Amino acid sequence: MKYRKLGKSGLSVSEMALGNWITHGAQVDDRTAQACVNAALDAGITTFDTADVYSETRAETVLGTSLKGIRRDSIELCTKVFHPTGSGPNDRGLSRKHIMEGCDASLRRLQTDYIDVYYAHRFDSDVSLEETFIAFSDLVRQGKVLYIGVSEWTAEQIKRGAALARELHVPFAASQPQYSMLWRVIEGEVIPACEREGIGQVVWSPMAQGILSGKYAPGEPVPEGSRASAEAGAPFFDRLAGQWLNNEVLQAVGRIRPLAEESGLTMPQLALAWVLQNPQVSSAIIGASRPEQVQENVKAAGVRLDAEVMRQIDLILSGIAEFDPSKTG
Ligand code: NDP
Repeated sequence: MKYRKLGKSGLSVSEMALGNWITHGAQVDDRTAQACVNAALDAGITTFDTADVYSETRAETVLGTSLKGIRRDSIELCTKVFHPTGSGPNDRGLSRKHIMEGCDASLRRLQTDYIDVYYAHRFDSDVSLEETFIAFSDLVRQGKVLYIGVSEWTAEQIKRGAALARELHVPFAASQPQYSMLWRVIEGEVIPACEREGIGQVVWSPMAQGILSGKYAPGEPVPEGSRASAEAGAPFFDRLAGQWLNNEVLQAVGRIRPLAEESGLTMPQLALAWVLQNPQVSSAIIGASRPEQVQENVKAAGVRLDAEVMRQIDLILSGIAEFDPSKTG
């Protein structure tokens, strides 16, 4: 594994982080979840990503249990707050009440005293940004959170947050957007804004939920057991990656395969290496339904892709990859 600084902060994160959206507490049983976490630790992954809302809070519990006994200082545990975790009017959003209560509940489920990076999972237009950042800064002063981050915020929202973070002396270190060869909407505005503020990108769905692994073939039924077919995964897959499950995109993805072979990589490794070529990316969060996927994927750490391979990928995906910054969020 290789490690990078999270933006301009002093925190080192592993180039690949393990995330547990859809998988832990839902698609995979707890033994498989433990095996994936063990495979990540064995490969040198130190950064783990979850959220209170994943699998209706079970994902945090499964991750906390899977990491039990691991020296706390040797890992970075990251989670998020915003989406509903209950049916009450205050069980959601970025109010002081929900942030404070949400953080305590996450700490309990994760069986830890502090969170390394605590993310605002989305922007909350119903709550003043001051209220949100004062709550975050209080959590930092209380030692419950070390760094804060945001997920799927626009460049403008990030700029406003960064100004408040400076005023409150809060280490705002991370942005967590979707980023892959197919979804490049952060390149135009979010990345330049974050670069100016010293905020690193910790990117999600770097393999477009499996589309870029090459296992979804044009005109073929989706493979059994894959996220597109799994009961727990299909609704999320349809909503976010369903747009790519068509012949035009899958054939283009197929044309990338020779470039992977020429680079001595598998398709999943090429997809991950591609996002890591961007120096503003601090870490790529991988998902895995089996430990073998973790073992295969981590080999993308530290890979340098040839400039011609990058150019060919751009050509193959031109007209298919999405760049529109207004699609952030
Ligand atoms: P990926 O794009 O890496 O997709 C992971 C899925 O692809 C796996 O679960 C597996 O699904 C398939 N896969 C992985 N490796 C291979 C392989 N080698 N060969 C074939 N198939 C493979 O990332 P995710 O979409 O899972 O997102 C990663 C993490 O990002 C999440 O766990 C979460 O922590 C974070 N995230 C954050 C969001 C946010 O709003 N902030 C939103 C979404 C995710 P299968 O085997 O079931 O087909």
